[in-house]
Amino acid sequence: MTLSRRHTNKLSPIELVRYDRQLPVFGIEGQTKLKETSVAVIGAGGLGSFELLYLAGLGVGKIVIVDGDTVEESNLNRQVLHWEEDIGKPKALSAAEKIRRFNPYIEVEAIPEKLTESNAEEIIGRVDAVLDALDNWETRFLIDRVAYKLEKIFIHAGIYGLEGQVIPIVPGETSCLRCLLPPKLTSPPRFPAIAPTVGIIAGIAVIELIKILTGIGESNKGKMIVFDGSTMEIMRVDLKPRPNCVCVE
Ligand SMILES: [Zn+2]
Repeated sequence: MTLSRRHTNKLSPIELVRYDRQLPVFGIEGQTKLKETSVAVIGAGGLGSFELLYLAGLGVGKIVIVDGDTVEESNLNRQVLHWEEDIGKPKALSAAEKIRRFNPYIEVEAIPEKLTESNAEEIIGRVDAVLDALDNWETRFLIDRVAYKLEKIFIHAGIYGLEGQVIPIVPGETSCLRCLLPPKLTSPPRFPAIAPTVGIIAGIAVIELIKILTGIGESNKGKMIVFDGSTMEIMRVDLKPRPNCVCVE
């Protein structure tokens, strides 16, 4: 059992020391905002491992980890929260265990279930923002529908080999993900995935989230950030929403 040390939203003296090197970035106000924020990470695989490490390091106050899979040997090249000894364990539990040790000053909840039509509203309804750490479009579009309806920030992230992309969605400010992307997207099974690409894309996704949350920097909401590791180019692409989508009302 882990006792939560998050008694108050005020930063404790030890938290002020822990976050000393990032207070110049966020200020006390921004750091407190991070502490007050709850984020669900959907998927505790490659993207999820890095997103969780970054969120926990930043001091995001409550993190919900959702994944119905168990750890396999072929995950260990990039899913850095899962180790040899975790093979066979539910990924949500394995990831939560490491994240609680990494930052004991935040709340971590593990939900060892797949996100489905029947649990999506309940899970997404409890958090301020959702981070995509998935490998399939079907579940991404489910998150997009529910997050848009419940007015929660949704950061899409995906990778393929040396490439990846991020799209920050803010209901009421941007179009939804479904109308920014082509309608029939399919996910190939067992696509290529390496840790460095996953870490970079997870980093971009978390930076875009914290910019929206704290107001620092220039947000790319509604745009697609494309990273190509083969050339080291990063592009920001303006997306045109499909007319008559449900998000335009
Ligand atoms: Zn839309």
